[in-house]
Amino acid sequence: MVNINTIGNRLIFAIGFMALLTIGVSGVAVYNWETLDDHIEEIVTVNMPTLRSSYQLERNTAGLQAALNKISMNTDPVVHKELQQKITAKLQLINLAIKDTVSMEQYNAILATQKGLAETLSQYNQQLEQRNLQRSTLLQVENNIHWIHQDLINELPLLQQEVEWQLTRMLPNIIDTNAIIDVMTEFSLIQSITVKENELHQLAQEIILQHHTRDLSNAFYFIGYKIAEVQTMSEQLSHYPSTSTYREHLNDLITIVAPNGQLEQQLRKDSEIYHAITQYEQDIQQRLARQEALIQKMVTDADASLINLNDQTRNAIIISNLILLGAVCLSILLAIILSIYLVGRGIVKRLNTLGRHLREVTKGNLNVEIQVTGNDEIGLIGESLRQFCLQMQEMERTNALNLINNTQASIITCDLVGQVESVNSSAQQLFQQQNKAEDMVVWQLFNSNIDSRLESLFHPASPLLENGACNLTLKHFHNAEHLYLRLDFRLFKQGTTDKVIITMTDITEQEKAARWLESIVYEKTESLTSRNRQLRAEIEDRKRIEQDLRSTQDELIQAAKMAVVGQTMTSLAHELNQPLSAISTHVFATKMAVKQSRIDKLPSSLEKIEGLTARMGRIIASLRNFSKKQSADNPLKNIAVYDSVDQAMQIVEGRARVQKTTIENAISPELTINADDVQFEQVLVNLLVNSCDAVASCDNRHIRVHLLSQNNNTTLIAVSDSGKGFDATMMEKLFTPFTTTKDVGLGLGLSICRSILTRFGGSISLASALEGGAMVILELPTHENNQ
Ligand code: ADP
Repeated sequence: MVNINTIGNRLIFAIGFMALLTIGVSGVAVYNWETLDDHIEEIVTVNMPTLRSSYQLERNTAGLQAALNKISMNTDPVVHKELQQKITAKLQLINLAIKDTVSMEQYNAILATQKGLAETLSQYNQQLEQRNLQRSTLLQVENNIHWIHQDLINELPLLQQEVEWQLTRMLPNIIDTNAIIDVMTEFSLIQSITVKENELHQLAQEIILQHHTRDLSNAFYFIGYKIAEVQTMSEQLSHYPSTSTYREHLNDLITIVAPNGQLEQQLRKDSEIYHAITQYEQDIQQRLARQEALIQKMVTDADASLINLNDQTRNAIIISNLILLGAVCLSILLAIILSIYLVGRGIVKRLNTLGRHLREVTKGNLNVEIQVTGNDEIGLIGESLRQFCLQMQEMERTNALNLINNTQASIITCDLVGQVESVNSSAQQLFQQQNKAEDMVVWQLFNSNIDSRLESLFHPASPLLENGACNLTLKHFHNAEHLYLRLDFRLFKQGTTDKVIITMTDITEQEKAARWLESIVYEKTESLTSRNRQLRAEIEDRKRIEQDLRSTQDELIQAAKMAVVGQTMTSLAHELNQPLSAISTHVFATKMAVKQSRIDKLPSSLEKIEGLTARMGRIIASLRNFSKKQSADNPLKNIAVYDSVDQAMQIVEGRARVQKTTIENAISPELTINADDVQFEQVLVNLLVNSCDAVASCDNRHIRVHLLSQNNNTTLIAVSDSGKGFDATMMEKLFTPFTTTKDVGLGLGLSICRSILTRFGGSISLASALEGGAMVILELPTHENNQ
């Protein structure tokens, strides 16, 4: 059995219903369009041709009618021919129009009517042709009558003249009265017969005019009567010879108009044709009227069909619109119901609530009341969450109890007023309490001397109740020994109630170790403090010694300098002696010049004296500068190596000259280093003096200061000489102070050079020159100007 209450099934049902609704709406729309298409097709294929054919029939029938009207009135054979062709053309058009109505119910009837009409028209046409011929014949008879009548009228004046003449002839004599009477009688007869002839003529005219409507038998019977009267009178005139012409004409007239005469025959014939034509015309009119009625019926049927079609279309559209409107309203209603009740209230709202509760649960709040219910998926999830919370709570309770009972630690739980609720086995062993422990308050479990401390923890506003946790270390007497226990108090929730869990840790060993450590630390601290004091005193001593050492080093450097000065003193005396004797020579020459009044010699002598004095001044200045006591703490600066070499050469120059030694300064003037100029000069002087010592006993005496190599980091400056080189057995010791091979040497030169170069951040090393002499290499950091 499918559960309709699940959200999925509800959604499937709703979507399915919507789909059915959409299919239904689409079906209605398709049906509607199909119906409209059929209706339009019907209009185009059936109604429109029918109406068009009806119109053609109507139009051509009206044309035919007009032509028939004309042809019935016409008597001209040429015009008759034209009208006849027109009628034939109209009949053909009508036949064509009828062919288009083949689908109509009236088709056969119209076709039969048309066929009959065509035949009738053919006969009608023949009758009309006969009528026209008859008319011309009748017109000739009528003209004959008219002409005879005219002849009779013309004859009358002659007769009257004849009578007049006879009377005129008779009157003077008045002899024969009978003759006069006879003439008068003739005259009277002529008068009467003239009247009768006029009546006869008029009667004939009337009959001719009305012969279609009048009874010809009666009419000619009356004419016969009139003719008898006229004949009677005419016979009375027969013995008057003058009236013979008149009577002939009268007889001619009587012959024509007499019953069964020419006039009557022609009139009867004409009348017959007339009646036949009238009959045909009635027949034609009936057929046309029938055809008209059929066309009208056809038009009415087509109209009715159109109206019916229109009504059907309108009804179909109205019904479809109503169905579509209903479907749209139903869709909207369903969408509203779906979005408000199913999605909004049934899903979103409940999911939000479930999500909120789930967040609470994930935060650890297992007591949250899960309000989501129902038989659907969300309700089942809510139910599962409720079950999960209950299981978790149960598990936590079980876990807590298991933890409390199985842990090595001693644990007590109590309420917020200190009433013991559970004591685990480990704690029971500690207190030697059994079940009765759970009827006590916490502090009763411990020695009585700490009652008040424990009890105070359960007072309101105590750290435990305020912060939710605190700890305490106390001494507990147990099994005749003192135990140190650390008590950790924590608040926890059991269900909705706050409880206290007390974890007790036996820290006796740790406490003892801590106390032992404390004493050790104390002792060590004491010893370290005294050692520290000693060290501080030692540091002071060392600083003092270092200061002494530094000053001793300065003294030593100064001594070494002085030794150099001492060594160079002899040559210096010689050096100074030379200019001095030159000066005295120039002074003597000056005096002589003064005595001899050779003033012109004075300037050159004085200039030479000045030059020599300046030279001596330079030698003394450089020596004094070199001898100046220098502190090792002077800051380093950028110095030109070439100048330092030059300065050092000046100090050893005297000595070199004495022993005929050449000193070459091969350093580029641009080369600079970061050093103290006086100390670097001292290094160079020491090395130059050593080289002078080394080459003194040699034949070739040459000393060279040059740049050995240079890269971004190191600048190597070499002082090489042409001596015998370093003693290989002494090489390792030469930097040890007071190591010398010389009789008068101090053995400090090289060691002072090393300490000075160490201060510059460089080093000194010993090597051999290619020629075999000594080479001292000074390694210095490359100054940035040279990079
Ligand atoms: P001193 O010059 O006072 O002996 P030094 O420390 O300057 O002290 O020199 C130590 C020794 O190194 C010298 O006694 C000498 O034997 C040796 N020495 C120094 N320079 C040279 C050199 N250019 N050629 C040969 N040996 C030298």
